Amino acid sequence: MKVGPGENLLSTAKINDIKTWLSSAITDQETCLEGLIEMNSTLVDEVKTAMKNSTEFTIEKDQLWYLVIEEKFGPSPSTWFPSSVGSTHGHSCWKTIVDQIRRGLHRYSITINSGDKISFWFDLWCSPQPLKSIAPSLFRISSLKFGCIQDFIPTNPTDTGWLLTFNRDIRNSEIQQLTSLLATIGDRPPIRNTESDSRSWSHTKQGVFTVKSAYDALQTSNQAFFPTKLIWNPKIPFRINFFCWLVSLHKILTLDNLQKRGHSLANACVLCLKQAESPHHILLHCPFTRHIWNQILPQFGWCWVCPPSVLLLAQSWSSKGFTKIGKIIWQFVPAALFTSIWDERNRRAFNNKLKDVHCLTNEIKTLIHFWVSSHYNNLKFPLQDFIFNWDSLFL
Ligand SMILES: [Zn+2]
Repeated sequence: MKVGPGENLLSTAKINDIKTWLSSAITDQETCLEGLIEMNSTLVDEVKTAMKNSTEFTIEKDQLWYLVIEEKFGPSPSTWFPSSVGSTHGHSCWKTIVDQIRRGLHRYSITINSGDKISFWFDLWCSPQPLKSIAPSLFRISSLKFGCIQDFIPTNPTDTGWLLTFNRDIRNSEIQQLTSLLATIGDRPPIRNTESDSRSWSHTKQGVFTVKSAYDALQTSNQAFFPTKLIWNPKIPFRINFFCWLVSLHKILTLDNLQKRGHSLANACVLCLKQAESPHHILLHCPFTRHIWNQILPQFGWCWVCPPSVLLLAQSWSSKGFTKIGKIIWQFVPAALFTSIWDERNRRAFNNKLKDVHCLTNEIKTLIHFWVSSHYNNLKFPLQDFIFNWDSLFL
């Protein structure tokens, strides 16, 4: 900070400036840098470099927390990103952190300088997938599984190709993978310089990660992706909306999810007794459930292909071409069906009682009729129309 002749080092105005700058620095690194540039500070470059390196996993390699993580989960082949955790589902906070980091790998860009930090097989430096996934057989026989890019470049400048070394000769069946690998990395290695490799965050101008930019990026992508209007319908009781939300995230306590949480259970669907239970099976693909879907979906002029997941079902749920009452009913169908089938599953599993397809179908139609008549007072449709003339409501 410059002090002019006759000025105090810390005037009230300067203290206020520092307070503003500090609060910006804590919440938003971009604002902090802009503030420094406005002040013509000589520290801009130094602070920029410090921020670039301020990712704990990248620089705190000798800190206790890093050593504990490395001891417990093993070393990571990547300089910047932790490797995925294969331990039991739901028992590790670190597992969740790593999952979130790995979901955002494509949001970083990697710059090759000397090739000293980028893992050849594990980092995303030349394609959206790591090379070990593009050529898994070659990765298995590679003599440098954990090498960085510079280990794969010959030191002799007259050698212009890649230095790929394997523990044995490549077999005919692996030539296809070698072709894919070379097509991805190119014939010649990149031209290098003496600087260290760097990684930058794609959603800010400075390439520095900020919570705000990550939040904005996630919110923008999720808005287009998640069917909020169908899942969080204000005309449906909150308890059922919450259940549908858990279903869309694949988080309800079906037997497969309990197994992932470490419970030792035999997994069989109580509705069909033929296949393993999962959210998608019990709510979409189970033969018993398909009978109910067939009773609820209108039978005229269209063919419904059951989607592989509940989320895809919600994303493709459309009432195009239906009557006014048909469109109103349609918004309630998934929630009514999911909650009734889940109740039936619990009834069979815990109370040893059951209802048949016909009874459940009528129960679902009655529930939808209740929701329609509660929220649309001007639409007077008797319950028997829902029970006996269901298809005609959509025409
Ligand atoms: Zn089943």
